Amino acid sequence: MENASHEVSHQSPLDGRYVQIEKLEWASFPEGLCEGPIKWKLLNVSPETGAWTAIFDCPAGSSFNRHVHIGPGEYFLTKGYMEVRGGDNDGGSTAIAPGYGYEPCNAQHDKTYFKEDSEFYMTFLGPLNFIDEDGNTLALVTWQGAQTAWEMK
Ligand code: ZN
Repeated sequence: MENASHEVSHQSPLDGRYVQIEKLEWASFPEGLCEGPIKWKLLNVSPETGAWTAIFDCPAGSSFNRHVHIGPGEYFLTKGYMEVRGGDNDGGSTAIAPGYGYEPCNAQHDKTYFKEDSEFYMTFLGPLNFIDEDGNTLALVTWQGAQTAWEMK
C-alpha cells in the first residue's frame, strides 16, 4: 500500500507514535455512517484504553448519522463550522473554527452537521454507537472497527 511507510504500528500499545498527517491519504468514511462524502484519516488507536483518534474532512452539507458516544470525546475544529446536538439554536453547540469541544459519556448526536467545508480532529475514549430512531444499534464502532475500516480502505 502506498501509505505503508507512513502507517503507525497501531496494535503495539507500548510504542509511541508519530504521524505526518499530510502524508496519509484521505479515505472515504464508511457509507451508512454519514451523509455526503466525508473523508477521514485514522491517526491512532489505543488498545490499552479503547481510544481512537482521527481527523475528518467534511464538505459543506455533509453530516454524521445518529450516534451515541459510549465514552467521552474531545475535538478540535481546525476549519469550518459544525453543529453538534442541533447547534446553538437547538440546545447544542455550534463550533466555529478554531474551536474546541468536549462531549461526555453517552452524548447522543442525532445529526452532526457541517454548514461549510470543515475539518476536525477528535479523540474518542471508547466506541461510537450508531443507532436508528428507536435507539437500536446499527453499527458499534470500536477502536478495532475503526482500524479495520481504515485498513480496508
Ligand atoms: Zn458525536
